[in-house]
Amino acid sequence: PTSQPADGGWLEGRFEENVVLTTLSQALNWGQANAIWPMTFGIACCAMEMMAIGGPRVDLERFGCGAFRASPRQADLMIVAGTVTHKMASRLRRLYEQMPEPKYVLAMGACTVGGGPYFKHGYHVVKGVDLVVPVDVYVPGCPPRPEALLEGILRLQDRINARTLARRSGETGERLPIPHHTGRVAL
Ligand code: SF4
Repeated sequence: PTSQPADGGWLEGRFEENVVLTTLSQALNWGQANAIWPMTFGIACCAMEMMAIGGPRVDLERFGCGAFRASPRQADLMIVAGTVTHKMASRLRRLYEQMPEPKYVLAMGACTVGGGPYFKHGYHVVKGVDLVVPVDVYVPGCPPRPEALLEGILRLQDRINARTLARRSGETGERLPIPHHTGRVAL
């Protein structure tokens, strides 16, 4: 238009409706937090509850996190759901290393978090998956309900949204403190 509109100006009153201001950090975080691709890593009974999270009752897709991938190269979240044996540990580490950065790990269930019912006498079970890979979120329970897993994923999204460009994933300062476990891991 060549002449000024009768209602005042071209931009008057239109900023709030049509202009979004943000930072690069926030835009990147928003994109990643709402497009998490988990890798399927159900290795024991906890996996049943993990599968339930994709069903209509919980419907993980609502939170942009339902595209489970069968390949670690397409995934940025490893949900370890089940009992990690010493024989499985080296495979788990290898799959984690094949995931592209930034990547995250969610430990689901008592077995994954600290050995669970195998803690005392289970010579074959790793006493906490954080002895093998860095863990971002712990979801306790035997097994945790799907709602608890969803809560863990929401916490992870909060952590992603709190990042800045100066502190991206892969820096140990962003990880949750690793609890002390006793137990040897043969990798
Ligand atoms: Fe099974 Fe309980 Fe271990 Fe989950 S925490 S894998 S339900 S024994």
